[in-house]
This record gives sequence, C-alpha cells and structure tokens, in this order.
Amino acid sequence: MSDCSTCSSGGSCGTNNENGLPPGMLQQYNLNQSTAEDNLVWIETSIIDDKLKVVDVSIELIGKLKNISDSRTIGIIIGDNDVKMLYDDIFAYGIDTLYHVKDKTLATYHPEAYADAIADVANRINPAVILIGGTSRGREVAPRVAAILATGLTADCTELSMNGRALLMTRPAFGGNIIATISCSNFPQMATVRPGTFPMPQPQIGRKGTVMYRQATNNDLKDIISSERKKVIESDISKAKILISLGKGIKKESIAVAERIAAKIGASVSCSRALVDKGWMPQNRQVGQSGRNVAPDVYIAFGISGSIQHKAGIGSAKKIIAVNTDPDAPIKDLCDEFILGNADQILAEMDKMLNS
Ligand SMILES: Cc1cc2nc3c(=O)[nH]c(=O)nc-3n(C[C@H](O)[C@H](O)[C@H](O)COP(=O)(O)OP(=O)(O)OC[C@H]3O[C@@H](n4cnc5c(N)ncnc54)[C@H](O)[C@@H]3O)c2cc1C
Repeated sequence: MSDCSTCSSGGSCGTNNENGLPPGMLQQYNLNQSTAEDNLVWIETSIIDDKLKVVDVSIELIGKLKNISDSRTIGIIIGDNDVKMLYDDIFAYGIDTLYHVKDKTLATYHPEAYADAIADVANRINPAVILIGGTSRGREVAPRVAAILATGLTADCTELSMNGRALLMTRPAFGGNIIATISCSNFPQMATVRPGTFPMPQPQIGRKGTVMYRQATNNDLKDIISSERKKVIESDISKAKILISLGKGIKKESIAVAERIAAKIGASVSCSRALVDKGWMPQNRQVGQSGRNVAPDVYIAFGISGSIQHKAGIGSAKKIIAVNTDPDAPIKDLCDEFILGNADQILAEMDKMLNS
C-alpha cells in the first residue's frame, strides 16, 4: 500500500505522484488560478442638500482603485430610475461598466436586499476585489455581502495596495496598537474604507461607460411602514481646511469659545474621542481611528494627548499645531509646532483678539 494521506482509498486510487495528489491533479488548488479579475465598487447614493448624489467615499474608492490596479473598475448602483441622472458623473470618475440593479422596491434602503444585489452582481462578474465605503450603510451591507459570498472582510482600512491580484489592506489592529497589513486567502477580497481616507479623483468630463441592468434578487423585503429623513446638521470635518480640535484637556465652556473662533476664521471644530465619550461633542466631529480621517491645511489640537488612535486620523493634515500643558505629550512627536500652555486660556485669548 502506498503511503498516501490524500484520500481514504488506501492507495487503490493510484495516487502516488510526488505531490501526493489525486490522479489528474497536477498541482494543489491555488487561488492564483482563479479567474477573478475585475474590481467592484458599491456606488452608494444619498440625498444630500435635497438632491440625490453619489456619496464622496464611493468616488474616493474608484480613484484609489484606478491608482493601484490596471483591472477594470466596475460599479454597482442600486435604486429606481432616478439614479440614471448620476451615470455621467460615475463614468467621469472612472467606472468602466456600471451594473444598475433597478427596482422600485430598492428606492428605499434595505440592508439585506442591497447585500443580495451586490452579491448577485459579484457572483456574475467574479471580481478580485470588492470595495464598500465605511458609511453607516456600508457597515451594515459589507459584512452581509461577505457572508453571502463566504469570503473575508477587512473593515476600516487606512491604506490599500495591490500585489498582482492580491489586495493588501492596511488598518490599525489590536486596539490601534499596531498597524497591520492584511491579505485575504480567497476571492473576492473585500474591504471597507472610511470617508475621507483617500483623496477625491479629478473627473474626466465626457468619459463614457457601459450600463448593465439587473433585477433585484431579494423579493422577501420587510415592509417599511413609514420612514422619516432626520435633518442632521452635518459638519463635514473631513473637508475642512482649518480644524480647531478639542481634547480632554479643555473645559466644557471652551467648546463655545472654539465654535466662535471657528466661525470667525472659517474653520470647523473637531474633537478627540474623549469628548464624544463625555457626551460633549457629536460623533461626527470625532477625529481618529473610530472617527473620521481629516486632511486640513492646519490642524490645531487643544488639550489632545495624541494617542495612536487619534494620530491615525490626522496623518494627512498639512500642518499640525498642538497646545498642551504636558511638555512630553505624544502629539509633540507628530506636530509641526508645539505650544506649551493652557488650552482654555489660549482659546479665550484668541476669542478676545478676534472680537476686538
Ligand atoms: C479601539 C479604539 C478606538 C479609538 N478611536 C479613537 C479615535 O478615533 N479618536 C480618538 O481621539 N481616540 C480614540 N480612541 C481613544 C484613545 O485611545 C484616547 O483615549 C483618546 O484619544 C484620548 O483623548 P484626549 O487626547 O482628548 O485625552 P487624553 O489622552 O486624556 O489627553 C488630554 C491631554 O490634555 C492635556 N491637558 C490637560 N489639561 C490641559 C490644559 N488645560 N491645556 C492644555 N492641555 C491640557 C494633557 O496633558 C493631555 O495630553 C480609541 C480607543 C480605542 C481603544
């Protein structure tokens, strides 16, 4: 009997090649033999300023794929006829083929149905990579798609690159104490990326692409009895040119002072997670690993120590100024200018100067 561990035939199958593989199989199954080729992006839409628009992160992902991969970039958009007016923009930013899953029932967002639609297109085109924006919807849809496709998902990536067809996904891990680069051992390779992580690409006006229509595959939608759009005063800190950022070292009263200064100098106010945890600032102002990535021309950190999770969000800031009472605060290593001083007093002085 041959010394074979490949199957239970006791060697009668004839397996005896030097790799110990069954007859006819010359090589161990290797993912690189998969035909997975194209890259797929979910083109998420939203009503912004009362108009249906593509959310910026979807465009940022198209731009990133164009920079790192030569494969075709395929988009999937879900909704009724109204999304047709977005086709030109989507092609201008670099989509080659757009799958429009067109169905009246999908005009309203359903996480299960949207995940089914994305998985259906993925099963049809066999992509090497699927990217989804790390928005609140993206965070609901992406794990569902990964479960349907029986693949892995790396969430909240801060960098992406390609090695051949392997997607290398970088993100903070172990509570942000290390930055890990992760690859997925099967196709499709899935990642989410938070808004503002990558720059918006330049549109190529007049660029054309192909639209393919698909029907919704999930006919088992839950009834939505009523829905109401909540008016959120959105302060998009990821687009601000000047950010006054507040941390645990400030007094609560200084938030109003910072808002006044920001209004005068055309800045926005952001914060560390410590202030969100205290309930002093809303989550959409939080900078960092579990908040937003920002890329202002000037980032002024008042009373922020500079934890690794906070630093993860300010790597693209052009100039960082830190105000801190601790001469050894970790943010000192990252900032361009360090001011040793009391944040509340300095904010109050700035306010006074701007009012005089
Ligand atoms: C999984 C995970 C994700 C996280 N994500 C984020 C994230 O996205 N963003 C984020 O910010 N944090 C995040 N955190 C929390 C992070 O670890 C820190 O706890 C947080 O960043 C600390 O905020 P801080 O710098 O405001 O507070 P502290 O670290 O307490 O620092 C306060 C600073 O203020 C200084 N100070 C005190 N008084 C004054 C004064 N009067 N004037 C000037 N300076 C003064 C102190 O010297 C100190 O440096 C995350 C943590 C985990 C585990």
